[in-house]
Amino acid sequence: MVRKTAPLGKNRDTPPAPRRHRYRPHIRQAAAQRLVAGYWSQHEINLRGSSVLGCGRWRVFGEDPHQAQIEVDNDGARLRGHFTCGCNWTCECCAATSVARNRGWLRGALFPALAQHGKSGSLVTLTLSHRYDDDWADVVATLKSAYARMDRRLHKVYKKAGSAGKFKAFEVTVGANGLHPHLHILITHDADTDTAALAQTMEAAWRQALTEVGGHCTQHGFDFQAHRLDDYAAKMGAAHELAAQSTKSGRRKGFTLSQLLDAASHGDLCAGAEWQRAIAALKATNRFHAGSLAQRLGIPTPSEWEEQPAEAAPPAQAELPLEQDDATGADTDQAAEPAPPAIISYPLVDHLKATHPALGRPGLAMILRAARRGGTTAVLRMVDALCRDSERKQYEALLAAPPIDSQIITIAAQRPLNKDEIAEYLRYKRQALRGQPPHAAAVA
Ligand SMILES: [Zn+2]
Repeated sequence: MVRKTAPLGKNRDTPPAPRRHRYRPHIRQAAAQRLVAGYWSQHEINLRGSSVLGCGRWRVFGEDPHQAQIEVDNDGARLRGHFTCGCNWTCECCAATSVARNRGWLRGALFPALAQHGKSGSLVTLTLSHRYDDDWADVVATLKSAYARMDRRLHKVYKKAGSAGKFKAFEVTVGANGLHPHLHILITHDADTDTAALAQTMEAAWRQALTEVGGHCTQHGFDFQAHRLDDYAAKMGAAHELAAQSTKSGRRKGFTLSQLLDAASHGDLCAGAEWQRAIAALKATNRFHAGSLAQRLGIPTPSEWEEQPAEAAPPAQAELPLEQDDATGADTDQAAEPAPPAIISYPLVDHLKATHPALGRPGLAMILRAARRGGTTAVLRMVDALCRDSERKQYEALLAAPPIDSQIITIAAQRPLNKDEIAEYLRYKRQALRGQPPHAAAVA
């Protein structure tokens, strides 16, 4: 479906997010950084995807390691030469890239190849019943193992239907019944295959496999929609884009991980804890999986698709991204050669301090917004303000900390320390390193 009123980007059904939501992914990323750091200090275990902590903060190898860099052009402000974590579950910024890339691949590579081979695709959704008190990791594992069973068993059925393979998207929401994982599967088949029979066979196999691994589902556990290629691509990541609407319908259907991050960034501790619990339960779950589709159809894989040069894309697609520009004044720039982006640099140490999760602020979003609105001056002023805030918070934390038992050094010389004593010992050492008398806190 093509809407006429709103400008659409490459491979999308929905208009780009309003400009005021431009840096929302960075705000969610900051919330995720705080939550993975918090999880580590509480459990001393890294959640999978914890490298989101460095996303947009550290520098990549080969770039000047001492300077943070931002480039600004008509299209907005973005980092240059900084590490991207690529975490599909924890990092909102990297997940958005991944959703866009996979959807681009579906529309640009897979669908044309299917049409060429006289094939179509149907949308299958699989899920199961669960309760809030269940172990969320078990719920995920049950869904995955039931799917693996069903998939093995249906091998011949798929072959008979002329299937070239499947594309899977794993999605989760968190609602009143806890973590709700579901698999959206695009199953390819001959255009003239008997989809009703295929649906019936698959449903029976799904219910049987689920029962065998100790799970169960209601009538909502299986859904089959024949010949729905475009719907699938639109649906994929729809949760991602519509996540701004965390209203009643969101509550009824359960929150997406993005919505939990929104709530967590507004101070909702319960949402933050649920997000951590969901991430811990997901472990190494693939968010998107194309299997052997690319190989069998002789097309690039989704990760190779990213590398496609722009001129290789059909002209209609190559022209579309221009429409993403601001509705106001963008038209004048379209014909002209785009101006090279302006580069803003400042010390990396300041960048790390200004974007530190302990600061409790979406530092990166604030810096990027300043860059877009006020250029270098605004960025330097913003970074300076964030750094001063960071120093003040560190100092306050130091004053608020309980007095250090200076006996700890004497005890350490006499016997091995236990876990709590080691923490105390390190605190003593750290304060001594800063050149503050260890009893400073006691004095304050
Ligand atoms: Zn990332």
